[in-house]
Amino acid sequence: METDNRGERSERAARRCFRGRLAFLGPKLGAWGPTQSCSAAPNCAISEAQPRKGAGRGTAYRPGNSLRNVRFVLNANQETGAVGPAEAPHRRLSNWGGLGGAYDTKVYPAKSLCSHCGLCDTRYITYVRDSCAFLNQHIAELEQKVHGRSRALDSEDELYFGVFQSMLVARKKKPIAGAQWTGIVSSLAIAMLESGLVEGVVCVQSSKDDRFKPVPVIARNRAEILAARVNKPTLSPNLSVLDAVERSGIKRLLFIGVGCQVEALRSVQDRIGLEKLYVLGTPCVDNVTRAGLQKFLDTTSSSPETVVYYEFMQDFRVHFKHDDSVIGGPGRKWDEIVPFFALNTKELKEVFAPSCLSCFDYVNGLADLVVGYMGAPFGWQWLVARNETGLEMLELARQVCGLEEGPVDACGDRRAAVQQSITAYDRALTLPRWIAEFLAIIIGKIGPKGLEYARFSIDSHFTRNYLYVRRRYPEKLDAHVPEYAKRIVSQYKLPDT
Ligand code: FAD
Ligand code: SF4
Repeated sequence: METDNRGERSERAARRCFRGRLAFLGPKLGAWGPTQSCSAAPNCAISEAQPRKGAGRGTAYRPGNSLRNVRFVLNANQETGAVGPAEAPHRRLSNWGGLGGAYDTKVYPAKSLCSHCGLCDTRYITYVRDSCAFLNQHIAELEQKVHGRSRALDSEDELYFGVFQSMLVARKKKPIAGAQWTGIVSSLAIAMLESGLVEGVVCVQSSKDDRFKPVPVIARNRAEILAARVNKPTLSPNLSVLDAVERSGIKRLLFIGVGCQVEALRSVQDRIGLEKLYVLGTPCVDNVTRAGLQKFLDTTSSSPETVVYYEFMQDFRVHFKHDDSVIGGPGRKWDEIVPFFALNTKELKEVFAPSCLSCFDYVNGLADLVVGYMGAPFGWQWLVARNETGLEMLELARQVCGLEEGPVDACGDRRAAVQQSITAYDRALTLPRWIAEFLAIIIGKIGPKGLEYARFSIDSHFTRNYLYVRRRYPEKLDAHVPEYAKRIVSQYKLPDT
């Protein structure tokens, strides 16, 4: 009986799907016509086009569709072959890097937990239920696939930093002007492209209208990679170029991205038709929507409209760089530094994206090579090569990127500070500026450094995120939190509710 019901439902879904295809191929096709190439990357066909009102009705996934329908419709496409995989109907969603509007996160399968990684803007939405970092946390399984083993939970370093073969600190002797740190990511990407190791690089440039609005591209030359330097501190749909990658015929690809993008990419990588995929990851935490970023800047900086860069640094301060030419000024540049403890936690608590408040892959455990800063002394970058491919990339960086290198180090003890931060965050405590400055100086001198700072940051974020998931999504808690994160969190006493 149940089978019959399912059969009826399937037939209804098939009819809907057929109508959907007609709609897709018919009058609405115009709305999905040739995508505009990004001017900075003419070979890349990622769409700047905004769907017209009502466009995409009847495509495989639309607001209100259940995941079951998505799976059915797309399976039907594969089975009948009526619509070839590269043409599979899908909605190319337009709200990159910012929520709101007609296509709010609610229409993405992960709903409010969606990080806008871009997968669902491509035909690979077919695989969303198994691939999405927020619908199917499967880091250990993917570690096994990508690195040949999952992380050793009894090794403190792997428990925190994931599978690795080599870990070091480095900086470019001649930093790239305008890079986030010294530009190791951009210069390695250039080296990989120019040495012929890869034919294209997925990275993220900024929109011409808004320097903080991310525009993912497939870069094909040095200038296009350099145009992507510096963080776009907003959710970025880097995977939205996957269809374009497939169409481009590229066989050897470098993907630069953050953990949630990489988890989804690793899940579908065997379907893209690549001969070789390199993944250069960065750690990532506390990302925001475009609206959230504005709130953060308005709340924290004395001149939000001129900010061109910021970073939460190891000296327990947020460092902003300003340039007044972005508002038509004469090009005056200056720095602004705000201690963490002076941040308006009450206002900012809800600013971070729900995806980031429920993420436990801070260190990008599935990338081949990770380049961040959190395990390094101030001014240096932190490099983690996880597997043979990562070692190959590291070796190339050593040969051509002009690096000064050093070993990783650790000092201090983070635990008491983390335990205190749990209550402080819950109570949304903000200190007066002078006390916050004083504390930053003291903690900067005696507080955790190097790998111990990285562990401090991981512990603070994992305990906060564990509480967030436990309070908001208790039914997801067990499956969503990886075993390594459970072990890290279990070192601390959490509030009962
Ligand atoms: P650059 O040479 O300037 O290149 C930056 C690269 O980042 C570019 O290739 C670009 O494509 C890519 N990129 C920019 N914005 C995004 C985005 N939104 N999503 C995906 N890719 C992007 N490191 C830590 O150690 N701890 C952290 O807490 C931390 N948080 C981060 C949060 C975000 C949102 C991002 C994007 C990165 C974060 N990093 C963090 C990484 C760090 O800030 C630097 O990006 C990294 O060290 C590389 O510096 P670089 O000078 O070599 O990069
Ligand atoms: Fe789709 Fe990525 Fe959002 Fe998950 S996080 S629903 S895979 S766009």
